[in-house]
Amino acid sequence: MAKKMADLNYHYGLKMRLFPSSAQKRVIDNNINASRFAYNEMVAIDKELYALRQVKIPITIVQDRIEYLQRRKNNTQMLFAIHPWLAGAGVGTDVIDQARRAYQSAWRLFRQVHRSGVPVFHRKRADGSYQLPTRYTKSKIGLMEGSNRFIDKKHVVLSGLGKIRVSGSQKRLFNDAENIRVGTITIRRDATGQYFLSMQLGSDTPFAHATKPVQSAVGIDLNTENFLTDSNGIIVLNPRYYRAIKGRLAKEQRILARRRLRAKKEHRALRNAKNYQKQRVLVANLQRIVANRRNAFLHLVSTTLIKNHDLVVAEELRSKNMLRNHALAMSIADVGWRTFLSMLAYKADLYGRQFVTVDPRNTTQTCSDCGFVMSGNQKLTLADREWTCPQCGAFHIRDHNAAKNILAKGLALN
Ligand SMILES: [Zn+2]
Repeated sequence: MAKKMADLNYHYGLKMRLFPSSAQKRVIDNNINASRFAYNEMVAIDKELYALRQVKIPITIVQDRIEYLQRRKNNTQMLFAIHPWLAGAGVGTDVIDQARRAYQSAWRLFRQVHRSGVPVFHRKRADGSYQLPTRYTKSKIGLMEGSNRFIDKKHVVLSGLGKIRVSGSQKRLFNDAENIRVGTITIRRDATGQYFLSMQLGSDTPFAHATKPVQSAVGIDLNTENFLTDSNGIIVLNPRYYRAIKGRLAKEQRILARRRLRAKKEHRALRNAKNYQKQRVLVANLQRIVANRRNAFLHLVSTTLIKNHDLVVAEELRSKNMLRNHALAMSIADVGWRTFLSMLAYKADLYGRQFVTVDPRNTTQTCSDCGFVMSGNQKLTLADREWTCPQCGAFHIRDHNAAKNILAKGLALN
């Protein structure tokens, strides 16, 4: 039996552009719709079950209905029998199973973190996605073996779709193709009608050949004034081009909202409102440009850090506390710190480096020279960019000092 994803040491997410034929596009679109349909059916069944269970008197018709719904809930065959159009549209049972799993994990997430909210209906949108597991029939794994696989460096075969051309950074994986397992794949259509394929990959060996140790460790402080300051005092500024395009994006989004409102007032369906649709594509394109630029920036900074240091230490993002501060929450979402940290994590795997996160407690308030902790009315605020330690007299630049403390905490973990 081939190894499962969870048993493998290294994991990597590969995203590629997908170039389906028009027939394949139709099948993909049907699967996206079916996936949303199955998800929404689970939401509806659970809602009805909840309401029926409020009936405390034993009524046969209610009991029968509860029994029926419970049977139907996890039975893909029944779903196909009730909605025969699903089978005719090239929809795989795997897609439905996967949508149900997504629904169940949405509930799990809700139970763990109540802020995430209960699963709700997914509305039909211009963008959408569906997922498929990858199966291996033989005991052998590999990029070119499973039900979703590469047939050469530029083409994949996907279950239910056949051969499709891809473009992305997959080529270098072929040095080690026979050791890589493909996990769940996600096929996505964005709001502008482009198609993408994401693959979860697992391997027992690092995805890139481990780079030589460089005898260097670094701590990084993520803050609001710049993108980051490291323990050597190097500052990476927030990218400027991003801010420039954001103004334009906000303006176009206002126009879009206005057109939506006008169409509603005139009782026209949005899909028939030509000006609205034109604007929707324009906004989606701008959003993609912003996302691409942000990603390029995050990739550049994370790769540089990982390649130049054996150990990179950052603070855990304390989302709950940080998000309470609205301005801070905005900038976290803006600069993509969370994405950045996940890039550092998988690139560390990729290059055989180490990335750790540490508790952010007191990293700003501690003197990195003597260990004195500022407290009470001495406590530094966001406005204090520079300070002098009252105990040892050392002069500090706040973020640089914090980065040094973060590094020290990371080294203490090793
Ligand atoms: Zn001091």
